[in-house]
Amino acid sequence: MEFDAIVIGAGAAGLMTAIVAGQRGRRVLVLDHANKAGKKILMSGGGRCNFTNTNTTPANFLGRNPHFCKSALARYTPWHFIEMVEKHRIKYHEKSPGQLFCDESSKLILRMLLDECAASGVRVELNTPVTRIRAGEGGFGCDTPLGRFSAPSLVIATGGLSIPSLGASGFGYDVAKQFGHAVLPVRAGLVPLTLSGKHQERYDGLAGVALPEVEARAGGSHFRDALLFTHRGISGPAILQISSYWEPGVDLRLDLLPGMDACEALRQGREERPAAEFRTVLSGLLPRRLAERLCEVWLPSKPMRQYRDAELKDIAAQLQDWPIVASGTEGYRTAEVTLGGVDTDEVSSSTLMSKRQPGLFFVGEVLDVTGHLGGYNFQWAWASGNAAGQAV
Ligand SMILES: Cc1cc2nc3c(=O)[nH]c(=O)nc-3n(C[C@H](O)[C@H](O)[C@H](O)COP(=O)(O)OP(=O)(O)OC[C@H]3O[C@@H](n4cnc5c(N)ncnc54)[C@H](O)[C@@H]3O)c2cc1C
Repeated sequence: MEFDAIVIGAGAAGLMTAIVAGQRGRRVLVLDHANKAGKKILMSGGGRCNFTNTNTTPANFLGRNPHFCKSALARYTPWHFIEMVEKHRIKYHEKSPGQLFCDESSKLILRMLLDECAASGVRVELNTPVTRIRAGEGGFGCDTPLGRFSAPSLVIATGGLSIPSLGASGFGYDVAKQFGHAVLPVRAGLVPLTLSGKHQERYDGLAGVALPEVEARAGGSHFRDALLFTHRGISGPAILQISSYWEPGVDLRLDLLPGMDACEALRQGREERPAAEFRTVLSGLLPRRLAERLCEVWLPSKPMRQYRDAELKDIAAQLQDWPIVASGTEGYRTAEVTLGGVDTDEVSSSTLMSKRQPGLFFVGEVLDVTGHLGGYNFQWAWASGNAAGQAV
């Protein structure tokens, strides 16, 4: 029942910590309360796991201390992970620039991690909740239904609160608090936004309408990608990305025609089809159902020849800075990540060890480090797991 390191959480970060520590000859035990390891890995990337992004830089991460992630990311790059993937002959492809996905299935990534664990002698115990943690002279004691396990190093890799049905819990935050760590406020990130009241009614019936590219802007950040209207509000990659920068009260704007001189496009529409209604011309630039709704609710529609230049300029400016009043997010039920978490000021950025409790480590999403959409969250899990695995 004695180990060199106990890792709580058999997700991406916990398994990577265990592999690296095991390869260094450490006797490692991984405990997880779920009945399966790596459930989020299996679900990820639509079942194909977007396991890294070759364009990863610290700028792809949010957190109160933007410098914290630098050291671990520099020491374990996407290429290190790709090397492991290639060693296991897992075929992959690049989707949008930098985003790497398995050709076949996420199962292969989980299989690879578990095989690497087995190869370095790591013991993995599933269905094993930790009921109590005690710190003593020789390290940590973890009480479980299987008995008490002890080790001088304890790694908390229990992730965030997103998707409780996949085993997410606030356990890591509770352990952090137990040892005097500050936990920064948490909220759902990479999550669809909801609309309510009149703001929902105005877009009612548009569920399923998709725009291949919008620019979503909020909180000083902007993302250009697809948008999708849902039954409850808006989603799609552009919205998931900006959701991490949005909170109730934050101004959210959409450029519905990004990269386009919208005024020029409307003028051209007037020149080519002076008798056509504005809504018809707008339907050439936006999905028809959306164009019609915009004209029903907000924009005047009359024959194009009746528009003066100033009016077209004004409409173009509106289309490129369209305010959306979101009421909230879909919450942890569908969020890909949890923003906030264990305050990184009290954790070493090079070893991931607590500055308050020697031997206690935090890795992965439980920390206040959150990546953009596109494989960055797994890259943080691998990199932080590697850093702790080198140190335990
Ligand atoms: C649907 C979905 C799709 C995603 N797709 C991608 C993607 O394609 N690319 C990408 O980069 N990121 C993706 N993410 C984000 C990514 O999955 C996470 O950022 C990453 O898994 C975090 O790793 P982690 O090891 O810190 O936590 P997790 O992977 O969440 O692992 C935590 C582990 O701890 C266990 N645990 C929790 N509480 C306890 C407890 N009390 N006792 C014992 N064990 C416990 C859990 O069962 C789990 O196994 C996706 C997330 C979701 C939800």
